[in-house]
Amino acid sequence: MSHSDQDPIAAIATAAGRGGIGVVRVSSRQPLDGLMRELLGRTLTPRHAHYLPFRDAGGTAIDEGIALSFPAPHSYTGEHVLELQGHGGPVVLRRLLARCLQAGRETGMRLAEPGEFTRRAFLNDRMDLAQAEAVADLIDASSEAAARSAAASLTGAFSNEVHGLADRIVHLRMLVEATLDFPEEEIEFLEKYQARETLAVIQSDLARLLSQARQGAILREGLHVVLAGQPNVGKSSLLNALAGFEAAIVTPIAGTTRDKVVQEIAIDGVPLHIVDTAGLRDTEDTVERIGIERTWAEIGKADVIVHLIDATRPGPELDAAITSKLPPRTPVLEVVNKMDLAEPGQVAQQQAEGTKRLYVSARTGEGLDALKQELLAIAGWNPSFESPYLARERHIQALLVTADHLEIAGEHAAQSDRVLDLFAEELRLAHEALTSITGEFSSDDLLGVIFSRFCIGK
Ligand code: GDP
Ligand code: ZN
Repeated sequence: MSHSDQDPIAAIATAAGRGGIGVVRVSSRQPLDGLMRELLGRTLTPRHAHYLPFRDAGGTAIDEGIALSFPAPHSYTGEHVLELQGHGGPVVLRRLLARCLQAGRETGMRLAEPGEFTRRAFLNDRMDLAQAEAVADLIDASSEAAARSAAASLTGAFSNEVHGLADRIVHLRMLVEATLDFPEEEIEFLEKYQARETLAVIQSDLARLLSQARQGAILREGLHVVLAGQPNVGKSSLLNALAGFEAAIVTPIAGTTRDKVVQEIAIDGVPLHIVDTAGLRDTEDTVERIGIERTWAEIGKADVIVHLIDATRPGPELDAAITSKLPPRTPVLEVVNKMDLAEPGQVAQQQAEGTKRLYVSARTGEGLDALKQELLAIAGWNPSFESPYLARERHIQALLVTADHLEIAGEHAAQSDRVLDLFAEELRLAHEALTSITGEFSSDDLLGVIFSRFCIGK
């Protein structure tokens, strides 16, 4: 960040555009009495709403509204904060902001960068990093479920879980390190303090937190579902049926969907990005071949693959060829379409081993509700977690690294010769990875990346 974290800052804190109310927010390490006198003609009682004119340099009112003063440290940023709630038009708010910057010029006041108010809240220990991220997520939440989960993270529920685990790892590590000074006791240590049992409990609690965080990541990012299959099996029709309107071109000529079409839908509050792709077949047509290459690229990025099969045109060899090329770790649903046309017995085709098969009709809608539920289930969505934390990929990566170190620690503990120092080192690494989530060990670079994604005024 080019600017200093010491500067007083100001910004419009409400969304751009017209609104009933607009807020300009100022934050400063030094008390804001001077600014209040200039702008409001008086200082304010802390945390009391004052209705007053906001005055320009000549003393004329720019607007009239409510001013609130939050002296440090009891404010959003932990600094002295002034909030001016005026009328929400863009011109009047810009004038009010310009007036604040002008009146605060001698103190070095400048426009806040994106996320800078929240960055200060983090730097002044008003919230940890995971909570700060939750502020952005709450603002961006596009569904009620996502908003509820962001709120759960914001209140620190996720951070508390992380801290609880981190404390237990530190405790175990302290026991080990104390024992390291008495080498003759190393062997008995593991038994005496039930170190391996303790480690196993920490590991299983971590696994639970990870699955909740994954769930939260699904809420935040949505699931990428790719519709794949031979030409004309009904991929575009299924996309339209799931989305509820004509999103992709449907024609009876094979090979018409040459580029991808994406539809956003929500199932039980979970956002799904459904990608329709070019049909997979051998072709000489260059344009179609490019579409097929893109299809494989999409398939590589999918969270869930729907492999669509035409009930009326058995082509098990071609479908087996597609199945054999699908990425091994991505969950696949085999969906047999056009069941409205199928003769009894006609669909008794082979099913790829270990995959689940569903029967639908994109035309009549038969089987689509079951398909929607199965899409969530196969992606690992668990509706019984009430409010998962709105975790980010960064958190999940950190939890995975933690799990890896704990597993290696467990391997050291399982060996009979002296490996306690290695055991302790893995615990240290696990602890470091875990606490990167809440920001104890985070670098300035990481902070820059996280806060720059905010909008200005937050
Ligand atoms: P795509 O190439 O896989 O995207 O297939 P389309 O969605 O373009 O569909 C190919 C043809 O199959 C069109 O004529 C659709 O109307 C027809 N079709 C798709 N789904 C169904 C279905 O469930 N029942 C029936 N009867 N026809 C379908
Ligand atoms: Zn299509």
